[in-house]
Amino acid sequence: MDAEKRLRELRALLQEHSHRYYVLDDPLISDGEYDLLFQELLGLEEEHPELITADSPSQGPGGAPLDKFEQVVHRVPMLSLENAFNANDLHSFEDRLLRFLNQETATVDQALILSYMAEPKIDGLAVELVYEQGRLLQGSTRGDGSKGEDITAQLKTIPSIPRTLQSSAEQRLEIRGEVFMDRQALITLNQERLDNGEPLFANPRNAAAGSLRQLDPAITAKRSLKFLAYGIADPTQSPCSSQQELLVWLKDLGLPVNELARFCPTITDVITRFEQLAAERQAMAYEIDGMVVKVNNFALQQRLGNKARAPRWAIACKFPAIQTTTRLLSVDFQVGRTGAVTPVALLEPVEVGGVTVSRATLHNRDEFERKDLRIGDTVLIQRAGDVIPEVVKAIVEKRNGSEQPVSMPTHCPVCGHALLKEAGEAVTRCVNPHCPAQRLRALIHFCSRAGLDIEGLGKKSMEQLFDLRLVRDIPDIFALRHEQLASLPGWGAKSADNAIAAIEAARHPPLGKFLAAIGIRFVGEITASLLEQRFPTLDSLMQSSKEALLEIDGIGEQAAGSIFEYFSDSDVRAMFQRLHQIGVIPESGRPSPKDQPLSGLVFLFTGTLTALSRTEAKKLVKEQGGQIATTVTQKMTHLVAGEKAGSKLKKARELDKSILTESEFLQILRPSP
Ligand code: NAD
Repeated sequence: MDAEKRLRELRALLQEHSHRYYVLDDPLISDGEYDLLFQELLGLEEEHPELITADSPSQGPGGAPLDKFEQVVHRVPMLSLENAFNANDLHSFEDRLLRFLNQETATVDQALILSYMAEPKIDGLAVELVYEQGRLLQGSTRGDGSKGEDITAQLKTIPSIPRTLQSSAEQRLEIRGEVFMDRQALITLNQERLDNGEPLFANPRNAAAGSLRQLDPAITAKRSLKFLAYGIADPTQSPCSSQQELLVWLKDLGLPVNELARFCPTITDVITRFEQLAAERQAMAYEIDGMVVKVNNFALQQRLGNKARAPRWAIACKFPAIQTTTRLLSVDFQVGRTGAVTPVALLEPVEVGGVTVSRATLHNRDEFERKDLRIGDTVLIQRAGDVIPEVVKAIVEKRNGSEQPVSMPTHCPVCGHALLKEAGEAVTRCVNPHCPAQRLRALIHFCSRAGLDIEGLGKKSMEQLFDLRLVRDIPDIFALRHEQLASLPGWGAKSADNAIAAIEAARHPPLGKFLAAIGIRFVGEITASLLEQRFPTLDSLMQSSKEALLEIDGIGEQAAGSIFEYFSDSDVRAMFQRLHQIGVIPESGRPSPKDQPLSGLVFLFTGTLTALSRTEAKKLVKEQGGQIATTVTQKMTHLVAGEKAGSKLKKARELDKSILTESEFLQILRPSP
């Protein structure tokens, strides 16, 4: 295609997407996809400068102000930023700066050195706050860069925006910063919108913008917005000579600034900081989509000046996208170990944040139905941290009429039993205890690390043994024979040896571990260990009343009911009898209370551990007499914070709890001789 035609096409596409994004706060494509189109436009315009038009998106920030607001003219235009995506782009940025300044090295002259400030690029909305003699006079959005929307009343509802500054000396200050919504607030808001059948916000930026650009400030006030200041329209309004000094000065005036901004003496330091932030971003309370790099010195900033759309002295280095769009090919309904039926989206494979994604969760029936997805839909998907990818929404505008609606099944897709959704529960369940899907999942769980950790009987092997009807329930595992296994496809004498040895080793599991492995609903590791501490043998637990279960601190109505029902079931009792007959007898692992090293201590793990898995770490605590907490409470005594620890760490600090690194934790476990 010739360049002129493609440029016309790109301009039209980008203009449409900018309108959806900036004006309607409802994008049709992900930021990553938009950036790709934009880079293509810039590339073609660089090759053919004669084809640049005045209305090209490269010539100014997108986003005309909405008519429903008064307009505000920015005395100094509010620009966008150019993008970098990796270390190479950052080196090219410095090369461009040096070329412009006609210098060969980062020392520009004896006094001026090219150094930088690196600031997290919060995914929010840029605003300008005008203070006169220390009082907040007006606040506005960026709009198209020269004219924004007057949202003074809305901004005044944000608690972190001061109405008055610490000093009233300055005549007029035009402060710039970001209004944003943190992750938790966005999740809560989207949940509410889902409940009310309203469209979801695709990202924190749209949520912040949609919340601010409300005619009724009372709505804005309800939206948990925050503000951080990062700049000033005209540095000469301040006594500062650099961005680093400016941030300190803004803070002294009482404006919140980002504590994660860092001075970087060289571009290599900038790159190191970028890598650090990329590694830490998931643990942050708010979403950042990159890092803004600014030439630190104001005199150099002024020499470098601006291009049409963005300053020459700053660049936004973006992280790999975590949202993208793809096609919904079909929806699979998976039956879990407890019978919960989860809709799973099967997608045209697509790369998100460096990982190819072909499946995404749709959580549960309510969410699935409200999202109203159709087979063939273009859908926006996202990956957040290590969390399984999820479908954010269908892009309804992309429908052509051929899409097929999907509905939640009324009967179990595996056993055909009617599905049940209990009042007040989000989950739809297959309640047939003989459902093969549940049985298989339960067997996989029983042998997994969260269960009895029977090596050699992983998910694949268990599926194979289940399909061949060699293992249909737990006792069958212990009846497996060497020659049966050795002759199966994919097995040999050695793998059969190992599996049989692992099965033998699991014949006398600690009671708590066994209880967590058999998959009683609402009984995880923690409840299982509470049961183990109260009941010395499996028999005594099987005979206990519901009331006796309720007396255990930490076991509520739901768990007690489920445990009692489980052990009252005649099939379950028959299974335990069979286990007993074949010599599978759990042993009371009840710790002798006092002299255990961790007795009386309650541990909580957060973040990623590197030397141990979470399951291993919890097991070690319990083996040494300690207890495990699931949330930060007064009862918890120690928080073990791995890499990327987030809100739990913050809360533990607030409660003044003992915080350990993973290696400090290991030292407590194994005190040096
Ligand atoms: P930008 O978001 O790339 O960078 C400029 C913005 O960064 C500023 O306006 C400010 O809001 C923000 N920022 C955050 N921290 C900052 C700091 N410390 N210092 C300075 N600025 C800081 O540019 P933009 O023009 O606002 O938006 C362009 C981007 O928006 C695109 O790269 C794309 O990702 C996205 N977009 C997406 C669509 C879509 O359809 N999905 C459409 C248009 C734009």
